[in-house]
Amino acid sequence: MSPVRKDGAQLGNEHRPDALSATTATSITRRHVKGRPPRAPIAPASVFGPVGRRRFWWYTYRCRTCGAHLFGRARSLHEVTGERRAGCGHRVQVMAARIYTQPESGAAA
Ligand SMILES: [Zn+2]
Repeated sequence: MSPVRKDGAQLGNEHRPDALSATTATSITRRHVKGRPPRAPIAPASVFGPVGRRRFWWYTYRCRTCGAHLFGRARSLHEVTGERRAGCGHRVQVMAARIYTQPESGAAA
């Protein structure tokens, strides 16, 4: 019984090749449209790791759109990078270009 059902399902699929291809074409087109929105310009940032009692990562970067120098803070290095709205109102994609980590206490040679 089940083999017969399988054959029937296959036949059903073969009868709708047009519908399947149409769906695929639509999704591909949508993907292209989705890739269109302008990405925020990358803003290389200088990142300063936590030191002493401070647990936050501080970073500075420059807005590529208006040139403003901005300052930010994150809980982890991972949170530093990524797209966000800068203080000047422009969208930026912060990228940790330089990372200044502080030496561990007692590790100074
Ligand atoms: Zn700006």
